[in-house]
Amino acid sequence: MAEVLVYVDHVDGAVRKPTLELLTLARRLGEPVALALGPGAEATAAVLAEHGAVKVLTADAPEFADYLVVPKVDALQAAHAAVSPAAVLLPSSAETKEIAARFALRTGSGLITDATDLEAGDDGPVATQAVFAAAYTTTSRVSQGTPVITVKPNSAPVEAAPAAGAVEALTVTFGELATGTKVVSRTPRESTGRPELTEAAIVVSGGRGVNGAENFGIIEALADSLGAAVGASRAAVDAGWYPHASQVGQTGKSVAPQLYIASGISGAIQHRAGMQTSKTIVAVNKDAEAPIFDLVDYGVVGDLFDVVPQLTEEIKNR
Ligand code: FAD
Repeated sequence: MAEVLVYVDHVDGAVRKPTLELLTLARRLGEPVALALGPGAEATAAVLAEHGAVKVLTADAPEFADYLVVPKVDALQAAHAAVSPAAVLLPSSAETKEIAARFALRTGSGLITDATDLEAGDDGPVATQAVFAAAYTTTSRVSQGTPVITVKPNSAPVEAAPAAGAVEALTVTFGELATGTKVVSRTPRESTGRPELTEAAIVVSGGRGVNGAENFGIIEALADSLGAAVGASRAAVDAGWYPHASQVGQTGKSVAPQLYIASGISGAIQHRAGMQTSKTIVAVNKDAEAPIFDLVDYGVVGDLFDVVPQLTEEIKNR
């Protein structure tokens, strides 16, 4: 059976959920070989094996310490040479998309980013993507080199599939560019205790209808009752009511959670671009004609200041 190389996103050995989702898809294409880099790489092996990795390649070096991209491309290239995989899969993020693009260029391979599904095809993996602000769904496949595909978080379930997970150290030779950039300072964002927006299974978003930073507490309370992340429309972000890091849409983040709840958001095309592939969409809007109602699974026509707190209470009481 063909091997499929899976790039592991982890923090000090704790594997992030999108990588486990990716293993579910990788198993459709062949035998997953995982590549874990940096501090804690070896500690990822057990959980990766539980989710189907037949082998875990690990490498740690000072070059990986500073979140720089080029050393990781060097490592991916070394893993590619060692494994000769049928495909290279990465969980989609700003960083991994840069790694994927650089790797694809170096190896003369075709690249597909932000896939939402993967199937095995006669001529290689077939990837599904939502394009043109999610107005169309396309299926494509790479016709040159090793298919390099990044997959959006929440595109597949996490499934247990115990495999050998043999750990093997990978030797990486770093090129000149690996140390061509230096991180001079790093300011961690204050933790809200909520899940990361792009990885969350549930996202609760507020828009202009929330009518002020002080009212976002209503949105946060609903989010907390569901263990959800908080998102915002650009109108809410531009007004300074919520941080830009929480903006959902064309110029914000793209999310595809199991459940997306939009309150006081009209459903402009640029907002839809970032949330239209959510599995279930619920909207609360006082205007029955708001375009958001064209794409919802469940819509509530009403004042969010009445509806959202009631919803929160109802969920808390369950
Ligand atoms: P509005 O369109 O003003 O809608 C507010 C809604 O709240 C209305 O439907 C209203 O009926 C409802 N409402 C008001 N009060 C209440 C209440 N008390 N209870 C219930 N409902 C209420 N937008 C994004 O979101 N993300 C992006 O990434 C993004 N990128 C853009 C990029 C470009 C190049 C451009 C040109 C625009 C972009 N926009 C983006 C902006 C986008 O076009 C819209 O202006 C924006 O999404 C509107 O935000 P909104 O729905 O919160 O506000």
